[in-house]
Amino acid sequence: MATITSRSAFMHGQWTASDSAQLYGIPDWGKGYVTVTAAGTVAVMPTKKAGAQIDLHEVIMGLRERGIHTPVLLRFNDLLTDRLREIRKAFDDAITDTQYQGQYACVYPIKVNQQRHVCEQIGQLAVELGFGLEAGSKPELLAVLGLSATAGGPGVNGMPIICNGFKDEEFIETVTLATKLGRNIIPVVEKWTELELIVKHAKQYNIRPKIGLRVKLSSRGAGRWEGSAGMRSKFGLFVSELLKAVEYLKKHDMLDCLNLLHCHVGSQLYDIRVFKDAVNELTHVYCELVRLGAGLQYLDIGGGMGVDYDGSQSAWSSSINYTISEYAADVVYRIKSVCDSAKVKHPTIISESGRAMVAYSSILVMDAVGSSTFEANPDIAKIERMMKEEETDGDDHGVPQPVIDLLDAYKGLTDRNLKESYHDATQARDEVMSLFGLGYMSLEMRSVAEELFWGIGHKILEKASKKGELADEFEALPELLSDIYFCNFSLFQSMPDSWAIDQLFPICPIHRLNEEPTRRGILADITCDSDGKIDNFVDKRTEKKTLELHQLRDLPGEGEGCEPYYLGVFLLGAYQEILGDLHNLLGDTHAVHISIDENGEWEIDEVIEGDTVEEVLRYVQYDVEDLKRAMRLDIEAACKQGRLTVSEGKSLLKFYDDGLEGYTYLEG
Ligand SMILES: *Cc1c(COP(=O)(O)O)cnc(C)c1O
Repeated sequence: MATITSRSAFMHGQWTASDSAQLYGIPDWGKGYVTVTAAGTVAVMPTKKAGAQIDLHEVIMGLRERGIHTPVLLRFNDLLTDRLREIRKAFDDAITDTQYQGQYACVYPIKVNQQRHVCEQIGQLAVELGFGLEAGSKPELLAVLGLSATAGGPGVNGMPIICNGFKDEEFIETVTLATKLGRNIIPVVEKWTELELIVKHAKQYNIRPKIGLRVKLSSRGAGRWEGSAGMRSKFGLFVSELLKAVEYLKKHDMLDCLNLLHCHVGSQLYDIRVFKDAVNELTHVYCELVRLGAGLQYLDIGGGMGVDYDGSQSAWSSSINYTISEYAADVVYRIKSVCDSAKVKHPTIISESGRAMVAYSSILVMDAVGSSTFEANPDIAKIERMMKEEETDGDDHGVPQPVIDLLDAYKGLTDRNLKESYHDATQARDEVMSLFGLGYMSLEMRSVAEELFWGIGHKILEKASKKGELADEFEALPELLSDIYFCNFSLFQSMPDSWAIDQLFPICPIHRLNEEPTRRGILADITCDSDGKIDNFVDKRTEKKTLELHQLRDLPGEGEGCEPYYLGVFLLGAYQEILGDLHNLLGDTHAVHISIDENGEWEIDEVIEGDTVEEVLRYVQYDVEDLKRAMRLDIEAACKQGRLTVSEGKSLLKFYDDGLEGYTYLEG
């Protein structure tokens, strides 16, 4: 609907790419990593520096030429590097500013994104930046042990490796032997029995282990994961158990091995105060344990550093009210002041800031494959003709009164009777539905009524929004009348948190930004699940229920579909890939690593092809050869009975075979 035009277009006429940037809030959530070009495309600036930028539309065109179709997940190696450097720098600055005497290390919890390419890159950077890796389960431990061997090369073993999560004897024994191998590995005790196992194996293999304890703090997080901390949390030891642990280790002459104190108060913590409280409490516990003789060196404040998904910089779930620098400054300052007053040596600070490290570096690009829109301008001549026919068709219903009312309301709509007309129309529509339900109305009359109703809605919206702010009565109209754009992706595979926890991710078209988007719509994926849709979008002030979109352009020719229209979903690097599932057997998308060469040109480092149909079928235990055999037999029988010609049979079999080898998404 060309109705809700943004005011800035009225102000200076010609729509420009920077109007689009404002409209979609790109400078707010893009944080310098995303920009629009004069050509009306979206570009990524992996190091936030002008000049070195990667035009997303150009990349997608380039990939298409190479036969790699959307949906495709783009990962930007240079951006990931930049992000890690930014975290390093924020803490270095805070350490210098406060004259903190200890070190800082960020430890990457691989659960946030375990993809080998991502972890290998972080592993290598970890060597350079003095960072480490974290594992939360047995498979993750095995991955991290291998990664830390290759990252620094054999014999380079200083990188801290933190092991959280629940551990069995095999896990502890592996960690013990890895210590013997020379790794700087610290198992964090989540429950009491783990401590006994660590001591047992340390004695058996004759090592001095590094031991961490996770404490249940009384300060709790806030928001979605507040249950990660607090007295009822699933993880960690009560303070009484900490004291018991000190006694236990003293008895075994291993109190010097108690090296690390850990807490984790939740993920995407949007309020900086939560960190301040937790760090304060944790540091007090730390100092007390030092007083009791523990050989503590590391203070691990866990993860939780959030990301400003909606760009609002506020204390609410899709945003955060602090920057990396503020986070670093607060953490370092708190730890220093508590330690100073207790006269305790400043510890090495560890944070496990997974989300903050990787969220920005992945972007999904998907194509819209079509849209469903309501006709804004009903064909009145045709409607009147249909009503006349209904009058004279011989049955005795005639044209139902609410249909006549709707036509009157449509024709009589003026600037002055908007509210009245809207009430009349809504009432008439409800009457239409009940008459139809009782069998008193033909399908033709119902269709006329619907067309008139949408027409009235559009007219009202057009007139009402020209007056400026939309009156409360009409608030529901934009959503009610919005389009549905069908996009080639699965919400469940590519952005599961949008479905599971209503997480907002910034979304905008990656081209045509020099054109004013004249339509509003919600986005639907290609699963057959009605939950597979996005109907909440980031907005500066609040969320918005519809997204401004460009009119799809039909390609010439019947059934040719529309010109490609590409949308980007940003900040998908954390958690989405691994939480994604195979709903409707839509598999992993292609993932492509893009970096910038010496000349500032983008290049493709790596193409990781998405799942084929065959792969997802195998995953659910199909034998693909069996399927093919069954199809071949059936086709053979059909040919024999003359339902298919031999060449038709051959074609069908070929489609079947090609389909099995193909992408699980639409390949237009
Ligand atoms: C999940 C998790 C993290 C990572 O949290 P982010 O919010 O991604 O920073 C860190 N530590 C532990 C123990 C976790 O379980």
